[in-house]
Amino acid sequence: MISDQNTKKPVITNGYIIAPYKYSMGVLASQFFVKLRDSRKICAAKCPGCGSVTVPPRSTCPKCFSKITELVELSGKGTLVTYTVVHYDSSVQAVKPPYAVGVIKMEGADKAITHLIGEVDFKKLKKGMKLEPVFRDKRVGTMLDIAYFKPVKAKA
Ligand SMILES: [Zn+2]
Repeated sequence: MISDQNTKKPVITNGYIIAPYKYSMGVLASQFFVKLRDSRKICAAKCPGCGSVTVPPRSTCPKCFSKITELVELSGKGTLVTYTVVHYDSSVQAVKPPYAVGVIKMEGADKAITHLIGEVDFKKLKKGMKLEPVFRDKRVGTMLDIAYFKPVKAKA
């Protein structure tokens, strides 16, 4: 039996990796991110074969494998399908906990996206609630141009 207390402590080592690379997003994804960055619009790929609407866009339909060349503009609103509230703190997270992450079925699309949820008491999160995007003021062409989704306020 090992009784030394030091053997129960995790060993921490430091590493350092530099891996510069370039990645081509393809035509549709590039258009998606340019629209997000320049117009604060969320677009989806509409399949000419089966009519499936996919977000983020794909150039090949996941249902019927048709080539997709057309984007359609979505309202940006969505419905919360499921969510979790993260309390665990880790050095690799982009956001400090606690934060909420939701799977959001986008209005007008057949697919859901995963994103942060903000401006809400996490105890009041409910499946089925309507959400809308909050865009960053300074956008660079990534999914984080959407800062988070927030609940749609009921009209008075
Ligand atoms: Zn299709």
